[in-house]
Amino acid sequence: MVLLITVSSFAQHPLKHWTDAVEVRYDSKQPVINYILAVDSTDTSSFLVEMRVRNVADTFRVAMVAHPEYDDRYWQFVENFYVETKSGKGNIQREDSALWKIIIKGNEAVLHYRIHLPVLKDALRASWKAFLSPTGGLVGGPHSFMYIVGATLSPSHVTLNIPTGWKVVTGMEATPDPLTFFAPSVGILIDDPIFIGKFKSWSFAVDGVPHQVIYWPLPNTTAFDETKLVSDIQKLVKETSEFFGRLPYRDYIFMLQDGAFGALEHNNSVTVGVPSSELSKDITSYLGEITHEYFHTWNLMRIHPIEYGDVSYKTPPLSKGLWWSEGLTIFYADLLRRRASLPAFDTTRVQHLEGLIRRYSTTPAYLKFSAEKISLAAYGPTGMLGDYSSSTHLQGEIIGAMLDFIIRDATNGKSSMDDVMRKMMDNFSGEKGFTSKDIEQTIHEVCGCSVHQFFQDYVYEHKQIDFKKYLELVGLQMQMTWKDVLSEGGKHVPDLRVYSWLDSEKNLKLGITNPLSCWGRAGLHTGDIIKSVNGTPINETRNFRQVIREVKMGDTVVVEVQRPAGIIKIKVLITGYQQPEVHITPISRVTEKQKNLFRQWINNGTS
Ligand SMILES: [Zn+2]
Repeated sequence: MVLLITVSSFAQHPLKHWTDAVEVRYDSKQPVINYILAVDSTDTSSFLVEMRVRNVADTFRVAMVAHPEYDDRYWQFVENFYVETKSGKGNIQREDSALWKIIIKGNEAVLHYRIHLPVLKDALRASWKAFLSPTGGLVGGPHSFMYIVGATLSPSHVTLNIPTGWKVVTGMEATPDPLTFFAPSVGILIDDPIFIGKFKSWSFAVDGVPHQVIYWPLPNTTAFDETKLVSDIQKLVKETSEFFGRLPYRDYIFMLQDGAFGALEHNNSVTVGVPSSELSKDITSYLGEITHEYFHTWNLMRIHPIEYGDVSYKTPPLSKGLWWSEGLTIFYADLLRRRASLPAFDTTRVQHLEGLIRRYSTTPAYLKFSAEKISLAAYGPTGMLGDYSSSTHLQGEIIGAMLDFIIRDATNGKSSMDDVMRKMMDNFSGEKGFTSKDIEQTIHEVCGCSVHQFFQDYVYEHKQIDFKKYLELVGLQMQMTWKDVLSEGGKHVPDLRVYSWLDSEKNLKLGITNPLSCWGRAGLHTGDIIKSVNGTPINETRNFRQVIREVKMGDTVVVEVQRPAGIIKIKVLITGYQQPEVHITPISRVTEKQKNLFRQWINNGTS
């Protein structure tokens, strides 16, 4: 299946603490913090937060965390912020959008603020964003809590004040009070979402570790096979547990939500949008996404790129390592489903590989930018790669698949990427983040071979992957034929490979995904400001999409764009376009070794 949206939570080990390289360490005694989060059943537009702090200096700063991959900027929605102390009100000065300076007398204070939730514009809601409804909602995390700058090792308690009859699930530590939870650091506090409301819940244990699946339904939910969904999830937990040899958390919660899209992994929970209307049609339709997010519990949350460190209100640096964190996660999301006898998107591994190579070959970005550069662009500004679009997921998965062949060949089938992933978990599950060089070194340790040239060519540079060379290692060959893209009725499909986005100044910008598209060949470039299309002024992405959807083969579209040099009109003749077809077949004469390696690989990587 296609991942709707996959964003990734910052890496955070549940038991270890992190040193803060960015912020000045709080030099007083450790502050002690108690939050009270209050939800009123009659008001679903906002919730109240009370932050009781002790052991603080007369002047301190509070801030809201910026997530490295999605930053929903809920500081915009802070209202009625005030500070109380024993001797009266404290003083608040806003120093930056997400940063406030607090001046008090004495060493304790109570901060009060309200989060006024944004009104939803789209029919579907992002599954990780805070929301409230008459039957439940999601709170906690970077959308709810301020923290004391420089004191990210401060432990805190969170007490919930929620409507009668609502339940709570969160990955935070339980306390004797069922509505109070504990977080040993700001990193854990911010990482753990809190789901509240009326929802269905199932539980199972794998290797003695408790797991909970919850499903929050919309009032008009559609019925689906709940038993099958939960038993499939249990199978994938068991498979992943066996893969790594153990489960790295105390307990785990799958927070599945109706009426939502996208997913976000956390250190011992995940939020996933899983519409009941889809589940009623195909109960396995979201297993790919669920497996992907669950695998991130290891590969990203624990094995994390070096750029991901402690929480901060400052936007963290982009990461060069996401080709591994996303690419190998999607590689294992496919493989673990096959091993668990759960349906995967493509029937066979060969078909899956054909699809990957087809998509890779369609996209010229991979011949222009290294895997590290495309990793940076994954969460970089829109249009960062100019007239090229790319996917770090796809590029990373292909690189992982080729490296798997290399390792199998070098070790005569004794080792594979599985051993590399487990070794990465052994070496990098603590505070230490990895670089691409570390992965290169880990593979070297596993296969006893040098993959330096491979990394040089594809990870640090941007050579075309020599598929022939790597497929041959397992006795396979590939034919690629470029063909016109046709509709089901056999008609040419118009080239609509163009998009638009609104920048921070509300300019509607044009995006070219491939310089060889008819839009790129006409002379348009990513970043051009769209003024009109065919004489009609356009200033919303929605309107642009609507106009483009109606374009037919042979049409001439006049796009008026603004550039630093002035406004120009560019005529685009709409043509069709080509995509490759990829066929992978066995080589006619293979050695015994190639035959054995193929047998292992096709057997889902197991002997
Ligand atoms: Zn992901």
